[in-house]
Amino acid sequence: MATTTSLNPYTGEALDSYKNHIKKEVSEIIDKADNRFYSWRETSFSERKKLMLAAASELKKNKKEYAEMMTLEMGKPISQAIAEVEKCAWVCEYYAENAEKQLQNEVIKTDAHKSYVSYEPLGVVLAVMPWNYPFWQVFRFAVPALMAGNIGVLKHASNVFGSALNIEKVFKRAGFPDNCFTTLLIGSDAVEDVIENEKIKAVTLTGSGPAGSSVASIAGKNIKKTVLELGGSNALVVLKDCDMDKTIATCVQARFQNTGQSCIAGKRLIIDEYISEEFVEKMLVKVRELKSGDPMDQETYIGTMAREDLAKDIEKQVNTSVKAGAKLAIGGKRQGAYFEPTILTNVTKNMAVFSEETFGPALSITTFKTVEEAIELSNSSKFGLGVSLFTKNIEEAEKLALQFDEGAVFINELVKSDPRLPFGGIKQSGYGRELSEHGIREFVNRKTIFLN
Ligand code: NDP
Repeated sequence: MATTTSLNPYTGEALDSYKNHIKKEVSEIIDKADNRFYSWRETSFSERKKLMLAAASELKKNKKEYAEMMTLEMGKPISQAIAEVEKCAWVCEYYAENAEKQLQNEVIKTDAHKSYVSYEPLGVVLAVMPWNYPFWQVFRFAVPALMAGNIGVLKHASNVFGSALNIEKVFKRAGFPDNCFTTLLIGSDAVEDVIENEKIKAVTLTGSGPAGSSVASIAGKNIKKTVLELGGSNALVVLKDCDMDKTIATCVQARFQNTGQSCIAGKRLIIDEYISEEFVEKMLVKVRELKSGDPMDQETYIGTMAREDLAKDIEKQVNTSVKAGAKLAIGGKRQGAYFEPTILTNVTKNMAVFSEETFGPALSITTFKTVEEAIELSNSSKFGLGVSLFTKNIEEAEKLALQFDEGAVFINELVKSDPRLPFGGIKQSGYGRELSEHGIREFVNRKTIFLN
């Protein structure tokens, strides 16, 4: 029987070993999830709200326990892991309060006596999720799905199975009926069978492009809806009239939080050449102040990356870019799964750190002469998740926002997910939306009802 061993990326030590579910167990779990659907969909919004608020309380009460497991499994600094658990409580509270309103019947005037749209759950939805925000990525799917009356089955990344089981525990401790939310302990090679199971009605995936493409093609063959939240290579576009100190602080956070392992991180700084020298000098001071170290230490801001192979990937992207002419302003060295906070200047479009997604603590800097050039550089990425634009001219910024090919434009702010706002991308960043009213309506049957 296959087992999956999780490693602490900071110490390199084995943490735990999990027996993978075999095919028969997987199909039993899906059967039970499907059975649960028929009673869960009959529950009232007020019943679901009560349970979801209990999940929020459970997260807040035991945030340390849940955060520590994430930090051990993927090297996220503990203070950021605790903040992640708190954010999950927020999304529970948000949908507990808003789901009923968001899914109420939508009356549309026609020639009928009465006509309206009824939003109804689909059934069991499979979530294939990544390790970078082991709790948040799952909660932002699971909470609206459950509030809409769906059932969730999770295939989490193989390095965070402890967190996957903890998420199941949150819903259990909150009092949700059995099998409303279950974790499958399986590798990616077992996902095809799950998607093909007729009791699975839809699939959501957050992760890399190849994983998304594979899952979406299997789902497509089986005529099942998918939502894909894939990579990003967000630009931080800095105009010369920005508030420099504030912009630097925001850009450092946008790139280096979660040790750079975020789809919405600001990865490509695109800056007016007129201010670039002073800006980079000041930014280097701030980056030198970022404390690397034991992820379990409250003071640590830069932990290790989640796996050594991921740190090797970014090391390679940095090295090939330096060979192609980029200048290393700071960092660049790797030790095991740790990669130093790194800044590269003189970066051009064809270099790996610009054209590929950099999923770690390395920022590329490219200068421009005109705003048109800045927008062209930003849009030249194959990704389209989001962009941050920094300027004091808000009126002009709002006009420029229309010219970016992105799922989101944030002015004078880093791109962030917020339960109240839709989240998702275009181009190679995927399709569909999570969060807000848009997210909860992804996995529902919009049934037209016509009465004459
Ligand atoms: P993957 O995309 O490989 O993993 C994400 C999830 O998808 C995991 O649960 C993984 O399972 C699963 N998966 C992978 N391949 C398949 C497949 N063919 N069919 C079904 N499920 C699959 O990410 P990696 O961990 O390999 O990271 C590689 C890169 O992906 C990063 O460097 C980054 O660029 C991007 N990424 C983007 C994220 C985002 O938030 N958009 C998050 C994480 C990564 P298993 O762990 O068992 O392989």
